Amino acid sequence: TPAPLRRALVSVSDKSQLDVLAELLIAHKVEVLSTGGTHRALAELGVAVVKVSEFTGAPEILDGRVKTLHPKIHGGILALPTEDHARELELHQIAPIDLVVVNLYPFRETIRKPGCSFADAIENIDIGGPTMVRAAAKNWGRVGVVVDPNDYARLAEVLAEHGGALPDSVRRSFARKAFAHTASYDAAIADYLARHDDEGQAIDAAAITPGLFVSGEPLVELRYGENPHQPARFFRTDYAAAEQTGLDRALIHQGKALSYNNLLDADAALGLIRDLHAGLPEGGRAAAVFKHLSPCGAALGSREESLAETFIRARQADAESAFGGIVSVSEAVDAATAERLVETFLEVVIAPGYSPEARKILAKKKRLRVLELPEMFSPSSGPPPLRLRSVAGGVLVQREDLIGVAAKDGQVPTERSPSAAELTSLDLGQRVAKHVRSNAIVLVREGATVGIGGGQTSRVEAVRQAISRAGDAAKGAVLASDAFFPFRDSIDAIAAAGVTAVVQPGGSMRDAEVIAACDEHGVAMVFTGERHFRH
Ligand code: 5GP
Repeated sequence: TPAPLRRALVSVSDKSQLDVLAELLIAHKVEVLSTGGTHRALAELGVAVVKVSEFTGAPEILDGRVKTLHPKIHGGILALPTEDHARELELHQIAPIDLVVVNLYPFRETIRKPGCSFADAIENIDIGGPTMVRAAAKNWGRVGVVVDPNDYARLAEVLAEHGGALPDSVRRSFARKAFAHTASYDAAIADYLARHDDEGQAIDAAAITPGLFVSGEPLVELRYGENPHQPARFFRTDYAAAEQTGLDRALIHQGKALSYNNLLDADAALGLIRDLHAGLPEGGRAAAVFKHLSPCGAALGSREESLAETFIRARQADAESAFGGIVSVSEAVDAATAERLVETFLEVVIAPGYSPEARKILAKKKRLRVLELPEMFSPSSGPPPLRLRSVAGGVLVQREDLIGVAAKDGQVPTERSPSAAELTSLDLGQRVAKHVRSNAIVLVREGATVGIGGGQTSRVEAVRQAISRAGDAAKGAVLASDAFFPFRDSIDAIAAAGVTAVVQPGGSMRDAEVIAACDEHGVAMVFTGERHFRH
């Protein structure tokens, strides 16, 4: 059995929950060494604490750049519990340290502050802290290391249970967390240097470095991946906190645990509702239904329509596919909408909020996962968020695909221009098509999708799929395409089905042929000049 803790070194920038730590140090009569600021804070909490500078006989120098970098500290941490090491410690009058509580200079928080200078950023690179953390983590066989104030409570519990000692398993798990913490800390520094010049000015978004996981601890242990034989976890990425509210910060009100597939679908549904929200007229609302990463229905509602009605139109767009779907809506769910949501089997609902009555109604569906993201539409500052995917042998990183040119801002190359009503529907189609796997074709009528063709290997096949899904509703619908039409065949097919207007990026070798086909059939067309492939 390990011996009770005798000597701890505490040096923390984040002084939160220090009372919890102070209490356990006092309770277990641990001798405490501390650096300047931490010394003051602990002394105020009644801890008998010795300054590191007194302990080592070496003052803090160079504006705090050197505080704990001393053989008495590092020898005290790194010594093994062997007779040889004990003899050496005695020879050099070094007292062993068996607990290190350190959190590092707030580098990430500092660089996030507007106007942070390069010098400020550099000064906030902690040197002594990581050195102690790594030393203690290396020597986890004897030394405990705590890098997260949220772990003080666990530390207190474990010490109480084990008569003031830390069991091997706990020291080992603390060590793992500690190394993940210093690795991620250094990754943040490397990332900052890659993205800023020597004045601290942000270099263009072209400098993309993905960073690492925040703590190395999974945010969520997932039951399995896409299939039950695939192990999986959800990690929060280092840069997530700087971005728009993501699924890492979702409030989960009820339901079965989120699965890997749920998270993917929820992400897709969140992405579309954000794009729809961005294009909404004053007082408008939107709803979307997803299945297996593909939108199966989306609808826009005017000021006069209730959210419940808008949701119903999104669901009716493809009621068959909506079974077991993932729903996202653009405003807080009220009781009427909740009543409609519980009518069929759904996996997940995402909304910026829920009324108390709505929560009660949704609670009837015990398995339904109800996610709230209060800040889901607040714009992110800085460049578009990073998106990561893996390929065999590596990771691909890109900036998120944002809509720069909406349908209403495009060029009209055809004789006929789309009407205002057609433009509204084209806008919806364009936003939905961005979220459909290429080749993507979306048919829209009266503010709701009526036929979606996606994941097809030829564009005309995607057109045929969308038309066949729309059935009679294709007549009088408008169409959005994620990329240009390489031939006029698609235009001939959609005109025959009764489609009246098209939005697409343009840029094909045969644009002239496609424009001529539209003019022949009286179809209005908009070129946005912007492709939205989704591979
Ligand atoms: P305090 O507020 O106690 O004065 O400082 C605590 C911070 O100093 C901690 O974040 C710790 O990681 C950091 N620190 C401890 N020793 C050293 C050192 O020798 N050099 C540097 N640069 N930072 C240190």
